[in-house]
Amino acid sequence: MSECPICNATLSKERREIEKGVFAEVEVCPKCSDEWIDETEYKRLYDIFRRRAFKVGGSIAIRIPKEIANAVKIHEGDELKFSVVKKKIIIEPT
Ligand SMILES: [Zn+2]
Repeated sequence: MSECPICNATLSKERREIEKGVFAEVEVCPKCSDEWIDETEYKRLYDIFRRRAFKVGGSIAIRIPKEIANAVKIHEGDELKFSVVKKKIIIEPT
């Protein structure tokens, strides 16, 4: 277990919901309440929320990470509805 760089107290690991249904392991300082995240966990979260679009036939596709699919209860074969609002794509189960 690591120490808080500000007050040197021993950090405790906690699970935080950073988006609905998506959890991250953070280290919390019991003194100053500052929260820290290690590089591996940061990379894991970055990879969940960033995806590259790719071509499938004449369409553009993206993969939905399983953490996000689980959070919104989307399963293989489900019919999804999408809409475009202010240049953002909203995908939802029907
Ligand atoms: Zn601290």
